[in-house]
Amino acid sequence: KADKAKELRGQPGQLADGTRIPLLANVGKPSDAKAAHEYGAEGVGLFRTEFLFIGNSEPPTVEEQTKAYAELLAEFPGKKVVIRLLDAGADKPLPFLTPEDEPNPALGLRGLRTLVAHRQVLEDQLKALAAADAQTDANLWVMAPMVADQYEADYFVKLGKSYGLKFVGAMAEVPSIALMADKVADVADFVSIGTNDLTQYTLAADRTLGSVANYQTAWHPAVLRNIKMICEAGNAKGMPVGVCGEAAADPDLAVVLAGLGVNSLSMSPAALDDVRAELANHTMAEAQELAKKALNGDFYKPMDWDSAYAD
Ligand code: PEP
Ligand code: MG
Repeated sequence: KADKAKELRGQPGQLADGTRIPLLANVGKPSDAKAAHEYGAEGVGLFRTEFLFIGNSEPPTVEEQTKAYAELLAEFPGKKVVIRLLDAGADKPLPFLTPEDEPNPALGLRGLRTLVAHRQVLEDQLKALAAADAQTDANLWVMAPMVADQYEADYFVKLGKSYGLKFVGAMAEVPSIALMADKVADVADFVSIGTNDLTQYTLAADRTLGSVANYQTAWHPAVLRNIKMICEAGNAKGMPVGVCGEAAADPDLAVVLAGLGVNSLSMSPAALDDVRAELANHTMAEAQELAKKALNGDFYKPMDWDSAYAD
């Protein structure tokens, strides 16, 4: 089975009937591009830029950032590369940007909220991305983390375009953006669903807490219904919808996501083989049938309450 998966490496992601589902890599630093190539990624679906900020006492300069972004983009000429702006706060606190006294950091200043509160950091990052884009030939898509609704999406897209960025979008990580997806599709060039946070916020269970770890699964039909709303809006209005959270790395769930209407999947490079192989086993009609069952909760095993908190 592993050999068959390896055999498919050179091929693009697709269902058994030929429906294309591009398979992209999640990367955390430019040197991760090597693994992305090794496992046959068709581009980058999530470049987390936190590595430039973590461990420092102040933000990196525009020049430092430009160099790092250009280094990554140069690895993927002609290919799609989605770069996410800094996601500071909550599970990724930064001492110089994240308030220390928030009782609920996941509900506090994080993602785009942090960037708007530190406007210079936001604008420097956009400036560096535009400069790196001008130096390289990748197909750069830029997105903001933790965008709550169409108003924030519109704000961010307009700002990004004012820097000359061509394709600007929003991460969908909170239920509010799923509920407003039809409006978001009017203003954003694309949406990328972060299932780690979307699960945390849909089920109101902190993703970092072991005591509520049982909730952290995107197989929960409530999470899938949020994803469905986003896909329906995107597909109706021609707005690409990707998934870049852990859910995309689960081969069976990847098929369900394709059936829900997700257009591309991004995951850690090592997960690409198995997802590519599983997609190839199902037609779109089958994936849609599985998605219907998943939305109904057929594949979700509810928590066993008696044993969940027994000690
Ligand atoms: C997510 O929330 O699913 C995601 C991709 O972003 P991160 O895990 O970096 O918060
Ligand atoms: Mg997230």
